[in-house]
Parts: sequence; C-alpha cells; structure tokens
Amino acid sequence: MSTLLQSPIEFLKGVGPLRGEILRKELHAHTFGDLLAHYPFRYIDRSVIHKVKEVNPLTQFIQLKGKINGFKILGEGKQKRLLASFRDDTGEIELIWFKSIDFILKTLKPNVEVLVFGKPTVFNGLFNIAHPEVEIFTDEIKASGKGLQPVYSSTDRMKKKNLESRGLARLMHTLIGQTKEKDVPEFLPKEILQHFKLISRYQAILNIHFPKNESVLHEATRRLKFEELFLIQLQMLKVKSNRSEISKGFVFEKIDNQFDKFYHHQLKFELTGAQKRVLKEIRKDTLTGRQMNRLLQGDVGSGKTVVALLTMLMAIDNGFQACLMAPTEILANQHYESIVEALRGMNLEVALLTGNVKGKARKFILENLAEGKIDILIGTHALIEDSVVFKNIGMVVIDEQHRFGVAQRAALWTKNEKPPHILVMTATPIPRTLAMTIYGDLDVSVIDELPPGRKPIRTVHRTDADRLRVFGFMKEEIHKGRQIYIVYPLIEESETLDLKHLMDGYESISRAFPKPEFQISIVHGRMRGADKDYEMQRFVRGETQIMIATTVIEVGVNVPNASVMIIENAERFGLSQLHQLRGRVGRGAEQSFCILITGKKLSNESKQRVSVMCKTNDGFVIAEEDLKLRGPGDLEGTQQSGVINLHIADLVNDVKILEAARTTAQNLIESDPTLSMPEHQHLLSYMNEISKEKIWSKIS
Ligand code: ADP
Ligand code: MG
Repeated sequence: MSTLLQSPIEFLKGVGPLRGEILRKELHAHTFGDLLAHYPFRYIDRSVIHKVKEVNPLTQFIQLKGKINGFKILGEGKQKRLLASFRDDTGEIELIWFKSIDFILKTLKPNVEVLVFGKPTVFNGLFNIAHPEVEIFTDEIKASGKGLQPVYSSTDRMKKKNLESRGLARLMHTLIGQTKEKDVPEFLPKEILQHFKLISRYQAILNIHFPKNESVLHEATRRLKFEELFLIQLQMLKVKSNRSEISKGFVFEKIDNQFDKFYHHQLKFELTGAQKRVLKEIRKDTLTGRQMNRLLQGDVGSGKTVVALLTMLMAIDNGFQACLMAPTEILANQHYESIVEALRGMNLEVALLTGNVKGKARKFILENLAEGKIDILIGTHALIEDSVVFKNIGMVVIDEQHRFGVAQRAALWTKNEKPPHILVMTATPIPRTLAMTIYGDLDVSVIDELPPGRKPIRTVHRTDADRLRVFGFMKEEIHKGRQIYIVYPLIEESETLDLKHLMDGYESISRAFPKPEFQISIVHGRMRGADKDYEMQRFVRGETQIMIATTVIEVGVNVPNASVMIIENAERFGLSQLHQLRGRVGRGAEQSFCILITGKKLSNESKQRVSVMCKTNDGFVIAEEDLKLRGPGDLEGTQQSGVINLHIADLVNDVKILEAARTTAQNLIESDPTLSMPEHQHLLSYMNEISKEKIWSKIS
C-alpha cells in the first residue's frame, strides 16, 4: 500500500487528534486507506428535484427545493418537537424533528433556499417529512449540480463532531483529491480485468465515493464486489490447494471386512441413489493419498447418519479409529445409541464421550482410546480437547449445527501424525452462495433424495383462537396410536420468561390431556442431563404420547412414531429452525402434520416465514428463502465463521458475481497454485498484505 494511504487518520486535513480518535473508535479507520474503504451506503440523485405537489402516499425518498417559512416548537420533554413549514412554488409540506432541535435551529434559517431530502409520510391527513436532510442550496451545489451525492453511515458520537454524512463527504473529498493513481495500484491480473471488463481499482474507488452518474457507479460497485468475492474465493482455494500439497492423507485401500459385513448383513434398507453416490465420492477421496475435506449437505431426514457410519467403517477396515462429533449432548447420546444398535453383533467398540462423562469413566475411555481399543468415539465438542488422544484416528465426522470456520476444523488435524479425513455434515441445507463462501475450502456432496415411502408432511398455520380445534385433532391422532411434539421457543435473553411460557403450556396441556389416559414428557434446557434423558427415553419408548419441549430437541432426535409437530409462538423461530423442527416428524409410514401456532398479529416477515413453511418441504428452497429474508449475517451460526462480514458484496443479490469470482479463482489456482507467476505478483503481495490484517487471520 502507498505511504499516503497508510498515513494516520488524524493527519488528514480536517481531522486532527479529536476527530481522529472518534474515527478510529467508531469506524475502525486508523489510516487514510481505512477511511477510503468506508463506502457510501446510498446516494442522493442531485440531478432530480421534485415539486411538493408531486408528493403522494407512494412517494419514497424525494428531493425538494424551496424555503423554510418559519419554525415552531411544540411539546416539552420527550414530547418536544420542532416543526418547520417548507414551501416551493407548488405547495407546502411540514418538516419535523424530534432530536437535535437546537442544532437545527442554529444551522437553518428561514427564507434561505434549501434542498430537502427525505421520505414523506402521512400524518393527520397531511404530508410531513421527519428528520429530513436539509442543505443550503449554495452556489457550489448549483455548480456541481448533477451527479450522485454520497450518503455515509455515521454514529451519534460522530455526528456530535460534525462527522455526519455530509462531514464525512467533505473529508472524503479532501482525501480523494490527494489520492493519485499510484496510491491505489491495481492487483487484479490484466487478463481478468479485460475478461470481465472491470474498471481499475483507482477508478473504482473514485467513483464509489463521487459517481457522476448511475452507470459509473454501477461499474465501480461491480469492480469492488468482484474484487471482494474474488479475494475470499482465492484465499479459500489457496488454503485448499496448500492443504492438498502439504497434507498427505491416509489411503483406505480395503473395505472388505466391517464395511462389507455391515452393508450386506446389518443394513435394514436399501441405500438411496444419492447416498450411494456420496459414498462413492468419499471412497474416491480416501484413495487419493490426500486428506479428504468434504461437506455433506442433505435435508433433514435424508439419511446422513448411515453415510457417516459407513464412512467410519471404511477407516476401521484400514486399521484406523473414527469419531463422530455432534453439536449437543442429546444428539451425541442418540447417535451413540443408534450406532451401537446398528452395529450389534459386529464386535466393534463404540464409546460415548461428552462433558457429562467424568472421573473414572472418562479415564477409562481416554486410556482405551489411546491404546486403540475403541474403534468409534462419539461425542460433543469435548472431542476436540487436547486430553482426547487417539492411537490412530483416520476419519472425523462432524455433524454440526454451529458452522465452524476453517481454523476450528483445523484443530482436529493435529489428532494424528497425518491429518485424519474430515467429513462435515450440515444439520440443514445452506444456500449455495453461503456454502461457497463459508465452506469454500471444502468439496461438496449433496444428498438430494429422501428415503422412499416418505409422505410429505402437511403444514398448517393456526392462531391462538384455534387451540381447542388443535386439541381435538391431537386427541384423534393419539387415539390412532401416534405421538406428538409441542415445542416452545427459547431465547437466551429471557430464559425465565420462556420457561414460564413452557410451564404454563404444560399445565394447560395437562388439564386438556389428563392422566392416566394421557402421559406427557417435558424437556427443557434448565433440566439436569439425566432428567432430560429419562423424559426423552419415555417418549422414545412410547410410554408418553406428548413431548413438551424447548428447542433442545431441535437436532437429530428420531422417533418414527411421532407424527405431529406443534410449534408454539412459531413467529419467534427462524425459517431453518422451523424446518429443522418439522423434520422431527414424517419419519414413519404415517401421514405427518406440522401445526404452526402464532398470535393473530404478525409482522410481514413472520407471515412470509409461515407461508414458506406451509408451501414447501424442501430444505434447499427454505434455506434460500431464509437467506433472502434475513441476510447472511443473521443466519444461524454464520457469525462464527468470520468470512461473512462482507464489505460491499451481498450473497443474496450478487450470486452471478460470486460465481464468476469463484470460477476465476479456481482457474487461477489451477494454473498457478502458489501465485508465483510474474503476472500474479501484485495479487500475491496484496493478499499477503491484507492477510496480515482483517478477516483472513480468522480463516487461514
Ligand atoms: P438426517 O440426514 O436428518 O441425519 P437420519 O440419518 O437421521 O437423517 O435418517 C433419518 C431416518 O431415515 C432414520 O430413521 C434412518 O434410519 C432412515 N433412513 C436412512 N436412509 C434410509 C434409506 N435409504 N431407506 C430407508 N430409511 C432410511
Ligand atoms: Mg442427523
């Protein structure tokens, strides 16, 4: 980077020590370069000035030119507000402020020509604009006239020091004025620039801040988005390619013993085509002599567990140990039980290690593990701990809920001299763009087929008022011999309140479904592990017909006889969580149902979530909808992965750019894995430079 852009922020004209401190704290802008990377989030089109009479109920943000006639202060304390009547030659509209009143009165004078920008709303039948941006219509603006004016995000602390959007724009103007082409050198190879018709980095930076028109802005944005996504992909693929260079993997030559036995004698069903295909992919990986790093995606109930088990048997047939890591205690237990059951009579040692296994039992397991007497270890995150030492681990399966980053996965590699093969299974599907970004360093397998004979789950929406009808339906199902889940939301911040909801629900259900005719289990996060297990087991064995639970049952629980899933306060769950919960039913031969219960009034987003759930059972479709509704930052678990904090690109709308960036990065890494060709020199040094800062430290 040029020395100019490395200059400390306080040296920029108009900044100084005080504002410098604020820019560092609020924007993490330590240098000129950091400030330059604070892109506008919106632009005001200065070329279009509307008239007051054009304002109508559908008007979005609008720019008007006119004069303020006078001010009026109404109310006191919290009610205090400032009103201004604003006129142009076609009419009058009210401007209103609830905050910064003194500041407004100081800076705005009546009868001066101003530009007003904001979003009109209707109040008492009249239009007003709350907290508009008002700017004196100076000669300067008159002269610059056209072009798009940047709008920067800013915080209260910044605003107090005149670093509101306009103040920032002034600084940016100064900075851009000093920045020369050599300060923003190009690092993308010429060929790529030409192929995608991308403008230079320098041009892009100038135009992202002060674009003359929409089309210039579009080109600047396109270039910067491409750059951002390309660098992430390149970094991911570099990690991947380095790994396959360095990490020699174990070769699993044989699958003739336990694998065969299990496949031919123990397995109670025919694998689906998709399961077979995925197993072939894994088999191929484990023959290459390189370490496998594969992501297995499949919808709830698509049968990932049996694939995991067969994969572990491949390792065992070649003299290795294997382990399976689950996101929760309950799920680890259930995996343990179902795997012990599946392997019954096969003379294999399977052990369970969770945080609850302590003292002698723990010591016993750890010793046997180190001596190689345990073939398959199943557990929670406790497996990553240093004290867990294998004699010879060859395969690690991660059934995950929380999405790990590359670094966390790497912790597992040190468990043997050569890193074990790694299979990551996602609990629910994730959208392709997100997968490419978070799991860009992995190969991907997909199970896109459900086991045969499954009846699609019928999902309906009911409100509190329909409760009696729902109870009636529950009774019918129970009389047919079915079992029912009722799930309550659990949100960390108000755990006590949630518990109360759950207990209230339990009471009302107990009244409507009295003993001894009906038996009810209850499971929630505040219970001791042993109690949870006991209640769970009663339901699994069919001794109870209703399971009342918080989301602790979300992942993995398998009770094929349960055919009704009732979700209370469904509006409080995210889409993928709803889908995951629904996946607890529909596992047996009977028709299954999912009933989403909500209050009467729903936000638009909740309505949309409920309607998506009622429309489709396809986890991949739901994942895409979830991404659209919430954006990647809010999807479960993505925060941990770090790479999602995109600066300018957007995983919902920039799919095409992402794909182009991915392919380009792939081609580049294939032709020059170490980026050592002369034409890639700038790229390599830029990557090294940014890897010292920011996000890369988290993923490499
Ligand atoms: P998930 O992918 O959600 O982890 P599971 O592995 O728990 O799904 O499988 C769900 C259920 O489907 C289990 O009861 C499992 O035994 C059963 N199953 C898996 N594969 C098949 C198959 N090919 N045919 C029939 N049933 C299967
Ligand atoms: Mg599972």
